[in-house]
Amino acid sequence: MSGTGFTDSHLHMVEDGYDSDYGDIADCHRMLACTARRDEWAAQAALDDGRVVRFYGIHPWYADEWSADTRSALLDVLSDGSHIGEIGLDSKRGDLSVQRPVFENQLDIASSLGRVVTVHMVGTEAEVLSSLRGHAGGCSGVILHSYGSDSYVKPFTEIGCHFSVSPRILSRSDIRVSRLLKAIPGDRLLLETDAPHHGRGFTGMRAFAERLAGLMGTDADTLLGIADDNAGRLLDG
Ligand SMILES: [Zn+2]
Repeated sequence: MSGTGFTDSHLHMVEDGYDSDYGDIADCHRMLACTARRDEWAAQAALDDGRVVRFYGIHPWYADEWSADTRSALLDVLSDGSHIGEIGLDSKRGDLSVQRPVFENQLDIASSLGRVVTVHMVGTEAEVLSSLRGHAGGCSGVILHSYGSDSYVKPFTEIGCHFSVSPRILSRSDIRVSRLLKAIPGDRLLLETDAPHHGRGFTGMRAFAERLAGLMGTDADTLLGIADDNAGRLLDG
């Protein structure tokens, strides 16, 4: 690591408690801050912190909040060059037939503006892959947040996606986590906390990176550095 700190590729700074239990948040030099609903966008815009990279979007859980008015409000907040997220598809909560057009509408916007999208995906790998193939061609990047499916790494890699791993992965066995980390190409790996939704036992990014690095046969500094470089290339070109 360069010594300037790490990137957190997905967190929710407009939600209460995002920085509690996050012992080393002061070492985070780039924060990809996501939103889930329109009523969070004003607070997101008001975040006064040079480390913040802003993402605005409608999360699949709130897909019924999408409307022509919301679409034009989204275009407004994106006028400063911000990105789109958290958007996606969730088979465990809500109706996919409602979520999918909202997801694809937001992908179309990101595609036409050449922005990065951050994608929430629960039990919907095949559907997300299909939506991305059809609607994300012009995006400057696709971040698959809280990624967990080693069997889909290959097709998502082929369309240029990045894979962001969150501390919630540690609820799986070491063998399964190792298999996932081995499947993800080194130049596509990102690390996130999803704070405040980081899961039990979380104390900070470095401790999380140490756990992963131990499974990968490397060290936390190297891993944090790789993920930081990947995020830098993704966002800054
Ligand atoms: Zn999130």
